[in-house]
Amino acid sequence: MKFGGSSVANREQIEKVLAIVRSRATLRPVVVSSAHKGVTDGLIDAARSAAAGHEPDEAVIERQREIAASLGCAPELLEPLFCQIRDLLRGIRLVRELSPRSLDYISSFGERMSVRVIADFFAREGLAARAYDTWTLGFVTDDNFGRARPVQGNAQTVRIAFAKEVPADIVPVITGFVGKNTRGEITTLGRNGSDLTASLFGAALEAKEVQIWSDTNGVMTADPSLVGSAKSIATMRFDEAAELAYFGSRVLHPATLIPAMASDIPVRVLNTNRPDHPGTVISANPPPKSEPVTSIAYKEDQTILTIRDPRMFEQVGFLARVFAILSEHQVVLDMVATSEVSVSVTSHDREGLDRARDELSALGTVELSLGKTILAVVGRNIHGARGIGARVMRAIAEADVNVQMHSFGMSSNNMSLVIDDADIGRAVTNLHRELFEEA
Ligand code: ASP
Ligand code: MG
Repeated sequence: MKFGGSSVANREQIEKVLAIVRSRATLRPVVVSSAHKGVTDGLIDAARSAAAGHEPDEAVIERQREIAASLGCAPELLEPLFCQIRDLLRGIRLVRELSPRSLDYISSFGERMSVRVIADFFAREGLAARAYDTWTLGFVTDDNFGRARPVQGNAQTVRIAFAKEVPADIVPVITGFVGKNTRGEITTLGRNGSDLTASLFGAALEAKEVQIWSDTNGVMTADPSLVGSAKSIATMRFDEAAELAYFGSRVLHPATLIPAMASDIPVRVLNTNRPDHPGTVISANPPPKSEPVTSIAYKEDQTILTIRDPRMFEQVGFLARVFAILSEHQVVLDMVATSEVSVSVTSHDREGLDRARDELSALGTVELSLGKTILAVVGRNIHGARGIGARVMRAIAEADVNVQMHSFGMSSNNMSLVIDDADIGRAVTNLHRELFEEA
C-alpha cells in the first residue's frame, strides 16, 4: 500500500491512512510512504538556495517539525535527521555546488522523516508498526542518481532481508523513492518514485496486489483539475496504463507498472479520501470493452527539434545519423515525425537538445521550439476504430488550437499530438467532451 504526499500531508490525512491500513491489517499490508506533500520540493529549494550561497533556510525543517508535533511525536524522533540536513546544507553552501548525488542525498530526507513520524503515530494509536529505510531491507540500486533502478537480482535479496528484518506481527512503513547504491551512497528513483518503490517491493514480496493510494478516484479519463466532468476508469490493461503514465497522467510514475507486469500483480489506484471507491484496477487481462478510448493525458514543457535539409530525401542513413547524435547526448525522445526533407523530434530534455544542436547542424538547418505540450489519447482499441482520428482532430480544431505534430502507429495504444502549452486547457476540455461526454 503506497500512500502519496497528499495522502500523508498532515494529521488529518494520516489519520485516514491509519484507518485504511488498520482495516486491512489481517492481509499483512506493507506500507510505502512518500514524503509529506511539499517536503521534497522544500528540501530541493533549500539545497538550491544553499548552493547559490544564501543563508540557510529552515522552513522545511520547521514544517516537518510541525507535522510531527501535531501527531504527538517526541521532539527527539527527528532531531538526528534535522542535524544531518543542516550539516548537508552547510556543506552545499560552502562548496556552492549541487551535484546529482548531493541532490539525491538531500531529497531522501523527506521519506526518511515521514516514515518515522507515521510509524510512531500508528504505534501509539495501537497499530504495531515500524519505520524502515529501504536499504535496511536489502534494496540496492545502480549509480544513476536522480533515476536509479535496483541492481540485477535485487528482488531476491529484498525478499530474504524482509523476512529476516520484519516481524510478522508488525506493519512495516517503508521509505518510497530512496535507495542506496553498492557503495552505500543514497540514490533516488526520480520524482514521484515512491510508486515504483511500491511495485518493486510488491513484486519482490509476491504481494497479491499493489495499491497506489492517491487523491483521485483511481485513474481518470482526464486531469480532473482541468476537466470537472472527468470520470474514474474501472479497469485498464498494463500497457494502456503504462502509456498513460508515460504521457503525463499524474497518478502513476511511468516505470511503476514494469515490475507489476513482469510478476503479473494487479495494481489498484485508490483514493485516500474515498476509501470505499473501487478505484482503477490495472492488470494483464481486464474485461474487454467496446469504447476505443480510455483516457486523455498530457505532458507540458516539451521542446520540438526540427532538422531540415533539402538533400535529405536522397540520402541513406540520415535518420540513423540524427538518432546516433541524440543518443550520444543521452537525449530521451518521445515523438518523431518525418517528411522527405525534415525530421522533428520532441523531448523534455531541453538542455540535451541544446548540447546536441551543434553536431546536428552538420546535417541540416536545426530549429528548436519551446513550450510545447504532448497531448495523448490513449486506448486499447484506438488503432482499429474508424473515425477516431477525425473526431480528435475536429475537437482540437473546434477549440481553435493548432496541431503542430502528430504521431499514430500501427498497433499503438495512443494517438499523440503536439500543441502549445498555452492551449492545453481548451484542447483537453473539448477533446474530453467529444470522446467521453457525448454519447
Ligand atoms: N517525495 C518524492 C517526490 O516528491 C517521491 C514521491 O512522492 O513519490 O517526488
Ligand atoms: Mg505521486
